[in-house]
Amino acid sequence: MLLPEMVEVWQQTLKWQPDEKQQQIFQRLYEEILLGNRQLNLTRITQPEEFWEKHLWDSLRGIVPLLQSMNSNQTIIDIGTGAGFPGLPVAIALPQSSVTLLDSTRKKINFLEQLITQLELKNVKTLIGRAEVIGKQFQHRKTYDIALIRAVGSASVCAEYALPLLKTGGLAILYRGHWTDEDTQVLKPVIEQLGAVIESIEQFTTPLSSSVRHCLYLRRLRSPTSDRIPHYLRSQLLSF
Ligand code: SAH
Repeated sequence: MLLPEMVEVWQQTLKWQPDEKQQQIFQRLYEEILLGNRQLNLTRITQPEEFWEKHLWDSLRGIVPLLQSMNSNQTIIDIGTGAGFPGLPVAIALPQSSVTLLDSTRKKINFLEQLITQLELKNVKTLIGRAEVIGKQFQHRKTYDIALIRAVGSASVCAEYALPLLKTGGLAILYRGHWTDEDTQVLKPVIEQLGAVIESIEQFTTPLSSSVRHCLYLRRLRSPTSDRIPHYLRSQLLSF
């Protein structure tokens, strides 16, 4: 099955469009996910237009600020990536960036490893583990410029997973469906506790099925106090 090209829609909505090579990689990505779906429960979204909208377009809608910036050589982590969303479309659209796909399920990571080799995606790595554990490891803590997270849990949980992985000044992008001002009021103190601020909240309508969605942009400002104490000392201090 052939993915639609949607050149006009890409341009009108994101002021961006895939070049010929990127379109080919999107097509191959789609085909490999359909094949993988026979063995693994990867996604319910399998029709070409739906795949285009919910997996490709939606993934890239969240990173509009990066698509238009010249500085695209960023380190990005996609937390709870599943079948590779939003991380894979982002890596394809931003070949200068370095993208880590994190998931706690080994079967999904094994599938993604194969996919990355088949699609020859040189800027993608995988990582197996739980976000709350990975976020405490020195190799990953305060390491990334951008953290993406879609359909993993409540916004507070997503923020708790994403923020520790970011460098100071880094950006967490939370992909959400429904969102209200009350949700913002609930989230605000959680974000502040984690040493970050809600920089912006964008509402948008998807171009084919007109569903309303939101993206939350959280900026990490400083380390929370407990974070400044090295981990090995913290456990000693707490045991006193
Ligand atoms: N982001 C993808 C997949 C969402 S499903 C998309 O939007 O299509 C949620 C995924 O998060 C699952 O693959 C699950 O294995 C993973 N996951 C759930 N909790 C996690 C955690 N604590 N750490 C890492 N991955 C997690």
